Amino acid sequence: MSRRRIIAGNWKMNKTPSEAVALCAELKDLVKNDAVDVVYCVPAIDIVPVVDAVKGTNVLVGAENFYIEDKGAFTGEISAPMLKDAGVTYIIIGHSERRDIFGENDILINAKVKKAFAAGLKPILCCGESLALRKAGTYADWIKRQITWDLDGVTADQVKDLVIAYEPIWAIGTGETATADQAQEVCKMIRDLIAELYDAPTAEAVRIQYGGSMNAGNAAELLSKPDIDGGLIGGASLKADFGKIVNA
Ligand code: PEP
Repeated sequence: MSRRRIIAGNWKMNKTPSEAVALCAELKDLVKNDAVDVVYCVPAIDIVPVVDAVKGTNVLVGAENFYIEDKGAFTGEISAPMLKDAGVTYIIIGHSERRDIFGENDILINAKVKKAFAAGLKPILCCGESLALRKAGTYADWIKRQITWDLDGVTADQVKDLVIAYEPIWAIGTGETATADQAQEVCKMIRDLIAELYDAPTAEAVRIQYGGSMNAGNAAELLSKPDIDGGLIGGASLKADFGKIVNA
């Protein structure tokens, strides 16, 4: 089975609404590629103008966060149905910045994955190890535990629609990229885990991205690996380089 490549930008807390619209215009012709799913995951306040700005193009819009309740007294939060109604397709869940800075644990992340599916959003579920775990050689167990927890109660059909992003924390925003072989090793291990937790067709279908200082220079090699189906891109998604990654 051939899996469709997915290149997603994670804009993080960057771009005001007017800057976001300007970036969409700058990237419009550069990200054209009908063979690839191209996604901009943008700050909540940019969602409505970005959905409007990419109308009629090949770009899909993603969100970076939401809360697990549908509505009610949760000051400051937005819900999955609100995102869906605004035109969002993908939602990043379990990013290391949300785990580390905002204290999100695997119980909450699991609830978010289930809620996202229930609302008709496709999760991009992030996992990955710290530098200490990489050096200790225990990263595989750590990642397996994260994914096993995060997918508890999630069905095989849902997992076929899921994107998993392997993002070693030591490579995020540091300029230090995992080698293509290091990234492939973990992405294959994740696929094997999905086969164990579910079955072979589900493992064949799930798309696995690499994320961590992916850029125009290293994307082609990373994306040439058999178990790397795309990228989740932070810094390089905010500039013209993103077009080169989409077309790598
Ligand atoms: C990310 O935050 O998901 C990421 C991969 O960032 P960067 O590309 O900047 O390392």
